Amino acid sequence: MSIPNGSGASQGQWGRAWEVDWFSLASVLFLLTFSPLIVYYFIMSCDQYHCSLMDPIVDVLMGNSHLSDIWNKTPFLSWKAANIYICWVTFQVMLYILVPDFCHKFLPGYVGGIQEGAVTPAGTVNKYEINGLQAWIITHALWFVNAYYFHWFSPTIIFDNWIPLLWCANILGYAVSTFAMIKSYLFPSNPNDCKFTGNLFYDYMMGIEFNPRIGKWFDFKLFFNGRPGIVAWTLINFSYAAKQQELYGQVTNSMILVNVLQGIYVLDFFWNEAWYLKTIDICHDHFGWYLGWGDCVWLPYLYTLQGLYLVYHPVQLSTANAVGILLLGLVGYYIFRMTNHQKDLFRRTDGNCKIWGKKPQYIECSYTSVDGTKYYSKLMISGFWGVARHFNYTGDLMGSLAYCLTCGFEHILPYFYIIYMTILLTHRCIRDEHRCSSKYGNDWKRYTTAVPYRLIPGVF
Ligand code: NDP
Repeated sequence: MSIPNGSGASQGQWGRAWEVDWFSLASVLFLLTFSPLIVYYFIMSCDQYHCSLMDPIVDVLMGNSHLSDIWNKTPFLSWKAANIYICWVTFQVMLYILVPDFCHKFLPGYVGGIQEGAVTPAGTVNKYEINGLQAWIITHALWFVNAYYFHWFSPTIIFDNWIPLLWCANILGYAVSTFAMIKSYLFPSNPNDCKFTGNLFYDYMMGIEFNPRIGKWFDFKLFFNGRPGIVAWTLINFSYAAKQQELYGQVTNSMILVNVLQGIYVLDFFWNEAWYLKTIDICHDHFGWYLGWGDCVWLPYLYTLQGLYLVYHPVQLSTANAVGILLLGLVGYYIFRMTNHQKDLFRRTDGNCKIWGKKPQYIECSYTSVDGTKYYSKLMISGFWGVARHFNYTGDLMGSLAYCLTCGFEHILPYFYIIYMTILLTHRCIRDEHRCSSKYGNDWKRYTTAVPYRLIPGVF
């Protein structure tokens, strides 16, 4: 029997590992221990050391400060922050589960409403209510109505409570990951899609359930990845811009660039939320601390470092530099979007489409699932997919670099994002290629011969 790609499940080839080697375990323990500290360190450095990553270390080593001094100066969890955070998350939950999508009814080309995800390793196809764009629009409309009309709260509210909110985000991140772990033992949504390695730390970090849900519609992956994290991203940036206005009487062009470029990225995410159902996050990763805590803490706190930095160090770029950075960001975004679009179009039409005005070329490939069923697929070697095997990541990295460059070169802190994204996407590239190589075997070798580079032609 032959089944085209995407319509069959090959249990065992997808998802995270079944067995834990010592390196994976060591990495998991390292991340579980140090990730919260890294986030704290970055945010504390901005709050107490004007975004210098070196000064706290020098201060402590020279004996000018003790760790306890730094800790004592750190704002603690407050009732105000707890109330803000509870209202925020509750509001996003309500938008997610109570308001069916209406955007797809009037926005041409937008795919929203009830959509199907990819086939899970156990062969399930989940349905999702795609209403993230609507949640983003409603949230931001209310934000602006408040800022310009009602004045119920200050637009700087997020910046003003940033560290107390960090504790709230951590509590939710740990609570949801722990709940997901307990749920996978007691009442998993789909027991056949659970993976138990027997190693508690690994299972906690990488997740056991593939698509944990509460009821029919509350999907943990879709909710926590998109909202509250990514909806908050643009609001956090607005709050930083408002703080600049309050402190300096103006918003710098660098801050506007960060808001615009990251705003495009966020809007792109919600415009393509249905496409997101077919990415590695949803099709490969299980839901554990890596996604749960990462979405609640890592993403909102570390993806927004440029805006935070610019509050402490307002940078007014020369027009030439601002235009150069804008172009880098827009070209990066174009490559990222078009590469993703080309693969989506190619796969949806089974190659019956035009890429750069011509019928796409591809390599026919096949793979066999554990039950012996043979599946057929195609790997495109035209368009951006003929330039490099992961040119979408290259575009993403160009955009990430543009955000960082807005901050000038005085401090390393805003460059964390590009360093992190380079590690994340290179690792993801290798991880994905390992998976594709074991899936397609010799056909994958033919593909890598035809398209020899991963990210940058001639280099890597
Ligand atoms: P991709 O969208 O690149 O998907 C990889 C899969 O595509 C492969 O496993 C394979 O799947 C298929 N494929 C590979 N080569 C080809 C080809 N030549 N023709 C057709 N299909 C091919 O990966 P991701 O899901 O990781 O990334 C999606 C986007 O999300 C990227 O643009 C990335 O930059 C972005 N991203 C952003 C992050 C952030 O934090 N900002 C984090 C992670 C991703 P199959 O088994 O179907 O053949």
